[in-house]
Amino acid sequence: DRQEPWIDVTQEKFNYDSDYFVIPEHYEEDVGNVLIPHGLIMDRINKLAQLITSEFNERLTVCCVLKGGHQFFADLVNAIKKRSTQKGKTLPVSFEFIRVKSYHNDQSTGKVQISLSEDELKDFKDKDILIVEDIIDTGRTMKALLEFLKDYQPRTVKVASLLVKKTPKSNGYIPDYVGFAVPDLFVVGYCLDYNDYFRDLDHICIISDKGRAKYAL
Ligand code: 5GP
Repeated sequence: DRQEPWIDVTQEKFNYDSDYFVIPEHYEEDVGNVLIPHGLIMDRINKLAQLITSEFNERLTVCCVLKGGHQFFADLVNAIKKRSTQKGKTLPVSFEFIRVKSYHNDQSTGKVQISLSEDELKDFKDKDILIVEDIIDTGRTMKALLEFLKDYQPRTVKVASLLVKKTPKSNGYIPDYVGFAVPDLFVVGYCLDYNDYFRDLDHICIISDKGRAKYAL
């Protein structure tokens, strides 16, 4: 069997009682189990950085999808900066930021809004782009974003997503680099939000019913 290209944390055994970890006091009642502890996220990112450094040769434009992708972007870029291949090869990177919105409460609206000026988009021409996203759920956001970017003629586009959700609603899209496969539940933390809450939580956790009700719009 070929090994899956992500760490699969969809099974029950990957749930940790939140009492085993430090959860900020202001979220203690708002999260259920811890799904991916922060340390494991950082270790996995280090490996993704190694893969990326060895697979690209030219200067890479790393494009952060805001806001959810911000923490993954920052830690991934830091890891890439620290990495070099055995032959001492390092990877030069530059940055772009793109803002994409498609969610209301915990439901994908299907409509994808992308905000970036024409001027900024012109910078994508002939570049090798790595889009950095927090999570692929249905895959609709990423499909729309990739379609949209085509018009600006990048040389190559690859996608790194920290998480993919194993869901029957998936349109089949799979990114080039994935950290973890998560169950079909709403997850928060490590910059993944619920109406802008939980970005300031280090671990990736499952939201509790209490938290869901407390921060609903
Ligand atoms: P898609 O278009 O693939 O259905 O959704 C992608 C976007 O939905 C992600 O960029 C993310 O903002 C949001 N999203 C999907 N699932 C979750 C989740 O479990 N938790 C959080 N916080 N955001 C999610």
